[in-house]
Amino acid sequence: MRFILALVWAGSALAAALEPGSLPSKFGPSGPNCVAVPDWQVHAYNEDFYILRESGCTNYEKPFLYLIFGNDFALLEDTGAGKADAAPQVLALLEKWAKLKKRSTIPLIVIHSHGHGDHTSGDKQFQALPNVKFIPATLAAISELGQELDLGGRVLDILPIPGHNNASIALYDRKTGILLTGDSLYPGRLYVPIADYPDFAASAAKLAAFVKTHPIAHVLGAHIEQAATPYVDYPTGTVYQSEEHALALTRAHVLELNEACQSMGATPKTTALPDFTIVIRPARPTRQP
Ligand SMILES: [Zn+2]
Ligand SMILES: [Zn+2]
Repeated sequence: MRFILALVWAGSALAAALEPGSLPSKFGPSGPNCVAVPDWQVHAYNEDFYILRESGCTNYEKPFLYLIFGNDFALLEDTGAGKADAAPQVLALLEKWAKLKKRSTIPLIVIHSHGHGDHTSGDKQFQALPNVKFIPATLAAISELGQELDLGGRVLDILPIPGHNNASIALYDRKTGILLTGDSLYPGRLYVPIADYPDFAASAAKLAAFVKTHPIAHVLGAHIEQAATPYVDYPTGTVYQSEEHALALTRAHVLELNEACQSMGATPKTTALPDFTIVIRPARPTRQP
């Protein structure tokens, strides 16, 4: 009993050390009238952690981007979908942050949750900027980074989680306890090519092991496709999601994803859960000679 109490105490002490922040109960929907909605919504989780959401009116994928500040570097995860103009948005935020902190500027590192086009469309804009260290969304570049990224007084853990894409990573911010999971876990359709399913299941197990040993404040992914109603998702291409699911998932969803993968064993099939769906994509038919 004493041992259990000590464990509980240690867990809450860890959680208490996390830097707090706030999430909106929901992001504003893209519509119904696209003329009246901003191209980007920006939410400050706290003064050193920002969430950017691209409008569905610009691209139906409406991805989330994350901007995190350390003492020496700012880090941007992902650059947007379609004709996204993420760079001016991010530069304006860097400038405002520097002003708040009474500094002249801060260098930026650009990284990606994975290599799909709806997360890399703004890459060229950032590559053209001075004071930017650009890390391409490739397996080689990710491996070169190692397991940690130190932004100066703020360390992020880098967890390779191949499956949805071979360059998929999760990022864990030790300061806030936020786990960024990209397209590998979010309230929506988690697409997995059947040939890559063993990798996806291994990555789900890796994430489950990670959340068992680290305090997790929120699990934040790169899209919302789920409706607030359990088991209901919006069809692909939906611009205006009037009653969408909240962005944040929890440690419990990471465990649920792993359990779903475990129970599928070697026979993966598309599986709907209350807050997300694992979508197994069949192998492309090979052409007959
Ligand atoms: Zn993707
Ligand atoms: Zn995506």
